[in-house]
Amino acid sequence: MKKVAFYTLGCKLNFSETSTISRKFEEKGYRKVAFSDSPDIYIINTCSVTENADKKCKKVVKEARKINADAYVAIIGCYAQLKPREISEIPGVDAVLGAAEKFRLIELLDGFVKTPEAKVLASEIKEATVFNNAYSINDRTRTFLKVQDGCNYHCAFCTIPLARGKSRSDSIENIIRSAEEIAATDVKEIVLTGVNIGDFGIQEGRREERFLDLVKAIDQVQGIDRIRISSIEPNLLTNETIDYVSKSNRFVPHFHVPLQSGNNKILRKMRRRYLRELYEDRVSKIKTLMPHCCIGVDVIVGFPGETHDDFLETYHFLNELPVSYLHVFTYSERANTRAAEMDDAVPMKERQERSKMLRSLSEKKKRLFYEESLGQTATVLFEDDVADGMMQGFTENYVRVTAKYDPMLINELKTVGLKSINDKGLVEVEEAELVFESH
Ligand code: SF4
Repeated sequence: MKKVAFYTLGCKLNFSETSTISRKFEEKGYRKVAFSDSPDIYIINTCSVTENADKKCKKVVKEARKINADAYVAIIGCYAQLKPREISEIPGVDAVLGAAEKFRLIELLDGFVKTPEAKVLASEIKEATVFNNAYSINDRTRTFLKVQDGCNYHCAFCTIPLARGKSRSDSIENIIRSAEEIAATDVKEIVLTGVNIGDFGIQEGRREERFLDLVKAIDQVQGIDRIRISSIEPNLLTNETIDYVSKSNRFVPHFHVPLQSGNNKILRKMRRRYLRELYEDRVSKIKTLMPHCCIGVDVIVGFPGETHDDFLETYHFLNELPVSYLHVFTYSERANTRAAEMDDAVPMKERQERSKMLRSLSEKKKRLFYEESLGQTATVLFEDDVADGMMQGFTENYVRVTAKYDPMLINELKTVGLKSINDKGLVEVEEAELVFESH
């Protein structure tokens, strides 16, 4: 029985796909082992959002070879689709598979026998038209359920459509079947994931269903306590969806909504499909219906042509908005994107300065959001990554909570009082309330 180990870089979608591919190996009689357990085969699922992501792949391959120089190393994921030749030249790589091939890895690499040249099996992205369903299980406390893949948008800085292809989704019927499979396990929370999940519903190039239909259907699945929407474009986050989530017992009050810039000139240059007024409207709609709702924001700094004043406009826009945290990305040129051809590049030093300012704004926002939650009760899902005798978990509205480790409470939903914020910026709870109650 051959041993196989997996390593995932990047987003929740990648984790759901690695987990599904690993189950296919187990079904075929391979034994799944830890990365350090000297496996016969390494499968590395890559990301390519930034240049850094490419570098990380090379580092992981090096680590794998240190552990077992004879292991067969196969690379999949976004970097593999975008730069298969480049990866095939990395010492120790035996195979590179593209988006259309990665789910047929076992049959395509039959027997995993090393060859003098690395195998490159990566067809053009227009061939990646099939939707492969996927969900993560037994890797983390929360399950990432893939509901959509690819993207039909053309944001000027983004390579994802080139790495994952056209927007496509599974049918609601199939997704409900997966959700019921997950509900049959002891998983308490499902995170809906994809590339552009608000665009859910396109099958074989035709719109068959809508995201709100999926939300309503999955909300009926018994046995799942919490459902979280991973990230959704502002122009696809409809009033109906916000209304529905505000009334649902299972959908948690947490939206992660990419903004990218608070300056309309830059939003147009980025080819985003909204202006800042729409974003502001989404935020106020959410906060009107769910004042304690957590709102996360993606923002890019240093996009070509972004003057210091443009940046300050973004800064003040975010400073005034009642959002809870920011994911700040420093713009980096990506090959084959429109933005890479643009003039008016912002000096890297200036990009880093702006990034630093927004990261400290994010800390301030998060602290404020956590302080607003003190003195209230919330339900925490404690996770199994325990450190220094402490366990952690998220409330429904994404407040990170810490408490003394109790094995009985791992993967349990516990309603507790939010007491104070410790020096690590985590919320502490009333210990007395942390008693396990059997269901
Ligand atoms: S919506 Fe834009 S940023 Fe998001 S994946 Fe699609 S092209 Fe990329």
